[in-house]
Amino acid sequence: MRVLIVEDETALRENLAATLRGQGYAVDAAANCRDGRYLGADFPVDIAVVDIGLPDGSGIDLVREWRAAGRTYPILILTARGRWEDKVSGLEAGADDYLVKPFHVEELLARLRALVRRAAGFSAGTLRCGPIELDPARQSVTASGVPVELTAFEYKVLEHLMLHAGAVVSKTELTQHLYEDDQDRDSNVLEVLIGRLRRKLDPTRRLNPIETLRGRGYVLRFGRDA
Ligand code: CA
Repeated sequence: MRVLIVEDETALRENLAATLRGQGYAVDAAANCRDGRYLGADFPVDIAVVDIGLPDGSGIDLVREWRAAGRTYPILILTARGRWEDKVSGLEAGADDYLVKPFHVEELLARLRALVRRAAGFSAGTLRCGPIELDPARQSVTASGVPVELTAFEYKVLEHLMLHAGAVVSKTELTQHLYEDDQDRDSNVLEVLIGRLRRKLDPTRRLNPIETLRGRGYVLRFGRDA
């Protein structure tokens, strides 16, 4: 999951980036409108956290521009205390949620998880696709009710496939959304990892939860249970 942070307060931006990386997100960060505009328009963003008061403009304009350009990922805006007009303008510009500074990082994390699952069509707190259940708050997974031990990266791959259940996910898409930089993009590594994930989710080889479509990518065979 790739998160974009646009925040000019250095300490807050760096703390948020570190916390989100610790939670398994790939993070892109910008300190002003100019850099944020580019990242939000051209990068494979899954969710964005945008401060309203930026040194070279307003975060609300960024939201409006990205929406006008057809970007649909969820956006949470950060507003200063007492600026209720900012919340209204931000939501009307196309943001999905807001937090008033200062905030507890746990609240931000919970809101991001809720925005992501709702945007993907899940309403419950855990993601369910057929026999597979993933709890984003605990980062735990069960298959047919049995706990499945996954590595951090296997977990991220499964989460991405579940959020895009039923759709074909290419290797390029997976690497773009899960890796921060251009390293480790060996597609054989991904293939081995998917094979391992498949066996862990389906030790008896009866479910075939993840199908490989040659030359196109992978698809989770179970639809989402809203
Ligand atoms: Ca600011």
